[in-house]
Amino acid sequence: MNEKLNLTCFGGVGVVTGANFLLENKNKKILIDCGLRQGDRFGEAENYEAFPYKVEEIDFLFVTHSHMDHIGRIPKLIKDGFKGIIYSTRETKLLAEVMFGDAVALLRREASERGIEPLYEQVDVTKAMSLWSEISYRTEKDLGNGFSVYLKDAGHILGSSMVEIRFNNKKILFTGDLGNSPAPLLKDTESPEGIDYLLMESVYGDRNHETHEQRDSKFVEIVKKTIDRKGALVMPVFSLERTQNILYTLNNLIEDKKILSVPVFVDSPLAAKVTEVYREEQKNFSGDIKKEIAGGDDIFNFPKLQFTVTKDESDDIEKTPNPKIILAGSGMSAGGRVTKHEKNYLTDPHSTILLVGYQSIGTLGRKLFEGEKKVFIEGKSYHVKASVENIMGFSSHKDSDRLIEFVEKCSSTVKKVFVTMGEPKSSSFLVQRLRDYLGVDAILPEKGKRYELDF
Ligand SMILES: [Zn+2]
Repeated sequence: MNEKLNLTCFGGVGVVTGANFLLENKNKKILIDCGLRQGDRFGEAENYEAFPYKVEEIDFLFVTHSHMDHIGRIPKLIKDGFKGIIYSTRETKLLAEVMFGDAVALLRREASERGIEPLYEQVDVTKAMSLWSEISYRTEKDLGNGFSVYLKDAGHILGSSMVEIRFNNKKILFTGDLGNSPAPLLKDTESPEGIDYLLMESVYGDRNHETHEQRDSKFVEIVKKTIDRKGALVMPVFSLERTQNILYTLNNLIEDKKILSVPVFVDSPLAAKVTEVYREEQKNFSGDIKKEIAGGDDIFNFPKLQFTVTKDESDDIEKTPNPKIILAGSGMSAGGRVTKHEKNYLTDPHSTILLVGYQSIGTLGRKLFEGEKKVFIEGKSYHVKASVENIMGFSSHKDSDRLIEFVEKCSSTVKKVFVTMGEPKSSSFLVQRLRDYLGVDAILPEKGKRYELDF
């Protein structure tokens, strides 16, 4: 017997951030992700708006992974009356708790600047964690009323999963973010084979990254050039996954003597905490990396590496003579300690700013990416004399061709593909490619519109 399920996208439509999707019938209401909308602020004003559904009626919230644009409004959901169960992998839960600790402080600071109440406080985080249960990859879990869930590895960051909801012998898969496999530390993205509906990300729907070989050689070249010029290499990086990947890459390059050993600073208390989780939770790392670790390599450590936690330690980085490498957040230069280093080195022709991830519209990172020569930081103008380089190959997202290959694996069964979590240009380009190359029914869903699915 056919039944209908309704799908509504409340966030992550026409934008990368703020993922929030609702799947429901008369018996069950299931949310997938509850992310923060981010731009030039850590949390944009619209995060304060009320949720457009009855929060207390939601039975389950599934969390694909612990990036803020997928988890950042969960404590608000709790504050507004959510009483259901939150499910994710163990790693996602552990990392979410670390990320929330940082977010509470940032949101509090932004709120006081604007003279308003913070979006939520630690007490809401604590309550969220008490409602949060772990489920393992590849283990079907019964949810009642004919629903079950099955998590597949997305290969995006540690603990990232795709959420497959099963009902009436049919399947809908929510991808969350899809990893740029093969990733240095993680297993490859699992196949979406055999699914009936797909809701997918499209951050890089219209672009391809460098190949992994091009990425590595470009990185070596940029590091060497900056060392030769006796400059500082400043890398705005996300604390979660990107930092650990870059550390692992540097670890290998230094061990293989492909670059000189110079002081490397990870100037981020959050990155230090996240790296600890990566040290503890290696069960789901790729087989190769597990072998390397078993062989005795401490993959996140090498000579002259320093995690700077206190403000004084951070301030002392400037006193260390060049050449040196500085990794700091935020990854889009929208605040965070990296701003200080950008003030110090943007105007230095010997130094390099290296962008290694998606840069949201309106952020300083985006302006640098687009080649602006005069930028403003905290109201003061700076002439960009440092080289500004970018390597998108370090992205933990699949590029356009990889996204097509991913959908191809389910193209014979999939009835509709909802293309979300991308800027409009990127998402619509991917929709067109999916229709043209694979002949699948791909659409750009409208925000807040209810789509009926045949189950
Ligand atoms: Zn992500």
